[in-house]
Amino acid sequence: MQKKYDVIIAGAGPAGLMTAQVLGERGARVLLVDMKKDIARVYRACCANLIIEPGTHRELVTYAGGAFHFAENKFSIPYGGSIIALKRSVKVSAGGKTLIISGKSPEGNVALSFEKEILLQGMLAKAAACSTIEIMPETQALRAENTADGVAVTLRYGGRECAAVSRIAVAADGVNSSIVESLGLNKTRRTAFGRFMVASCHMAGVDCPYPESWVTFMGKGHTLGGRGQIYMCPKPHSGAKDTVVYELTVGVPALGPPTPSAKQELDHFINQGNFASWFKHARIIDTRAAALNFATPLIHPVEGNVVVVGDAAAFIETYVQGAIMYGYQAAHAIAQQLATGSGLDAYARSWKHSFEYNDPEEIKLSTQGFGLHVLDDGDIDYLFGLTAGDDIHGFVNEFSEPMTVRGAIFNHMAQIKNERPALAGMLERFGEVSVKDALQVGSS
Ligand SMILES: Cc1cc2nc3c(=O)[nH]c(=O)nc-3n(C[C@H](O)[C@H](O)[C@H](O)COP(=O)(O)OP(=O)(O)OC[C@H]3O[C@@H](n4cnc5c(N)ncnc54)[C@H](O)[C@@H]3O)c2cc1C
Repeated sequence: MQKKYDVIIAGAGPAGLMTAQVLGERGARVLLVDMKKDIARVYRACCANLIIEPGTHRELVTYAGGAFHFAENKFSIPYGGSIIALKRSVKVSAGGKTLIISGKSPEGNVALSFEKEILLQGMLAKAAACSTIEIMPETQALRAENTADGVAVTLRYGGRECAAVSRIAVAADGVNSSIVESLGLNKTRRTAFGRFMVASCHMAGVDCPYPESWVTFMGKGHTLGGRGQIYMCPKPHSGAKDTVVYELTVGVPALGPPTPSAKQELDHFINQGNFASWFKHARIIDTRAAALNFATPLIHPVEGNVVVVGDAAAFIETYVQGAIMYGYQAAHAIAQQLATGSGLDAYARSWKHSFEYNDPEEIKLSTQGFGLHVLDDGDIDYLFGLTAGDDIHGFVNEFSEPMTVRGAIFNHMAQIKNERPALAGMLERFGEVSVKDALQVGSS
């Protein structure tokens, strides 16, 4: 007879691992599958900054004493790696002007840079130590189907397809979730905006003049195709505390006019870009990539007996900490459902209420701020130049940072109106820019 699990979890990233751990601790029989062979190895681009702004996803996440602490949800998870405190967020225009945001946390930080691989190793070890959790690496979850008394999940392992059954299934298979697609939810509950391709590399030997900073290169002149955005951030690497490794990340829209690939943009920026001198002594020690389909979030993240957790339910991302937090919440709701026949609504309510992008206005606001880089390079040079010497404070956070940047620029509006009235008019009309135009993704 086929074995029936309480819960099958597709995907063992931060969301799936946290869901598995909590359910295992509560005695549920869990099957956790992931298509990777080495589950803790990170191949997908992720800047891995802990977002420390209070209220992010209605939570405050901090690091202290070898653990990440979730104040509102009242739980902690161990993190055995190093942390690099980021003191500034530095926006660099194509002409080398900067807009500098200093950290607003009590310690003067904008964010904390951590090593995702070490975090995943710790989470995986906890799940593996739980006797009720069965872990299957190299196993792809292809689809899920609600049945009268649970879910049938089709898996591919060793080139062969097989079915596994459970009372509840969890889609924690990331932003391009196969499970969500198989349930038809991308068609019935989401609006697609486009696709971004991302390439990133970890480099030693970078001569970055802005230490302890999250650096964003803004403006068309940074890239060959004049689209997309480039980020750079110091990262703890392979557990070492003393080597400074920088991660450089480029994202380019995959739809719209033909454009150089993310990899070509990365190579160009390092070798011929306006700041190539920073990379003269650099050595690439790791490369990563990601494909991101941007679609509105699943405002209701439950479909029958399938619960969608983490990026699988999100617009762009929940962040690592959000994936963990929603995994924690979903697991408690599932345990309640298994015990009493109801409980999933509590998770759905919490998700709806706390994930910012469930409010369409937040999608507009954050992408419009992100879209500042669509201005001409000369205008960005000019605007950043105006902010020289300003005391600007904030956090790295895709929800608030665009507003911090916009606020810093709008403080100089009287001067802008006087000196560049056309640009002032454009800035004031920023609220009218569509999400697709702000993301430069063209039509899908
Ligand atoms: C360029 C970039 C920068 C980012 N920067 C940050 C940052 O600074 N800070 C931050 O907190 N977050 C950042 N993120 C977001 C962060 O990476 C995600 O929000 C987070 O990892 C989501 O966790 P998850 O578990 O939901 O999904 P994922 O981390 O994507 O994990 C999904 C897991 O499912 C597996 N999987 C996928 N499909 C299947 C399948 N069909 N069958 C079986 N297994 C499958 C994958 O192998 C993976 O292990 C960034 C993301 C990108 C792309």
